Amino acid sequence: QYILAIETSCDETAVAIVKNERELVTNVVASQIESHKRFGGVVPEIASRHHIEQITVTLEEALKEADLRIDDMDAITVTEGPGLVGALLVGVNAAKSIAFAKQKPLVGVHHIAGHIYANRLEKEFEFPLLSLVVSGGHTELILMKEHGSFEIIGETRDDAAGEAYDKIARTLKLPYPGGPEIDRLAAEGEESIDFPRAWLEQGSYDFSFSGLKSAVINRLHNADQKGETLRPEDVAASFQASVVDVLSTKAYRAAEEYGVKQLIVAGGVAANKGLRKALVDKFEESETELLIPPMHLCTDNAAMIAAAGAVAYNQGHRSGWDLNANPGLDLEQYGNRKHSAEN
Ligand code: ATP
Ligand code: MG
Ligand code: FE
Repeated sequence: QYILAIETSCDETAVAIVKNERELVTNVVASQIESHKRFGGVVPEIASRHHIEQITVTLEEALKEADLRIDDMDAITVTEGPGLVGALLVGVNAAKSIAFAKQKPLVGVHHIAGHIYANRLEKEFEFPLLSLVVSGGHTELILMKEHGSFEIIGETRDDAAGEAYDKIARTLKLPYPGGPEIDRLAAEGEESIDFPRAWLEQGSYDFSFSGLKSAVINRLHNADQKGETLRPEDVAASFQASVVDVLSTKAYRAAEEYGVKQLIVAGGVAANKGLRKALVDKFEESETELLIPPMHLCTDNAAMIAAAGAVAYNQGHRSGWDLNANPGLDLEQYGNRKHSAEN
């Protein structure tokens, strides 16, 4: 069984093919980072235009690399949300056109379900499992009792982890995207500044990064006024220590409380070396198996959409020709819909 997937939710135009749910055949990602760099972030209009320019060549490249044709595909899957509406529309319309022209089943996929399922290309899932989703727009702890069902047990109350990284990087005048830059600097710095950790109420699995962000900005501002020089490496290391401490501690606590078989890390911030190391250390002695995706499956790609889409397809889910981009698609509702609806 071959599943084709298209992902255009943000600034990567991506097409992938997955065989028999778990075998990655091809994974083509056309990144637009260079075009957005001089604006310090993703410009939605530029993203849409790039997707339009890239979608056909990316699709052709994926098919060519796999030495397969659309006719060989069992289903066409696509990210329907969440993301930038103009960006999502390019992928959704491409998927609908291909599926309609070739009379193939069409399946809309939730972007975060994709980030989670990226891990299944490496290792089979064992339920119940807990996923720590840390990306540019999301920071969540998600409990899965079976395929395609998602229960959010904690989430950020303000900024996402990736967003915090990008904002602090901008304050430090580092290029976009800031996450990898801070990660690189942090490795060379000392955790010499004591930044706050937002533990929130006892037992809460929610997150908050806005207080930390303000603390870093204030500390830099104070240093500036006093003519004191702070090494950016130390600021990066101290900031990262706060983020990683909270993420890894809460993920570990939740994994213990829910007695999950696996803790799965997902999203762009899963590429963070500090976070990867902290989790490996925390889970070393644990009964819970830790799954961290390889670097190329952490940030946006279509392989993850194919992996999630293949399961949805095999569970019987189909999207109609009225499938639309849904920038605010809810993960729990998406999961419930998959079990009940056949549209
Ligand atoms: P979402 O998936 O929530 O819709 P997104 O698709 O924009 O958001 P991803 O592509 O999953 O997000 O991840 C991008 C984010 O990951 C950016 O904020 C980026 O800075 C961050 N990131 C990437 N590599 C690292 C790293 N090594 N350390 C920290 N953050 C990183
Ligand atoms: Mg991206
Ligand atoms: Fe993403």
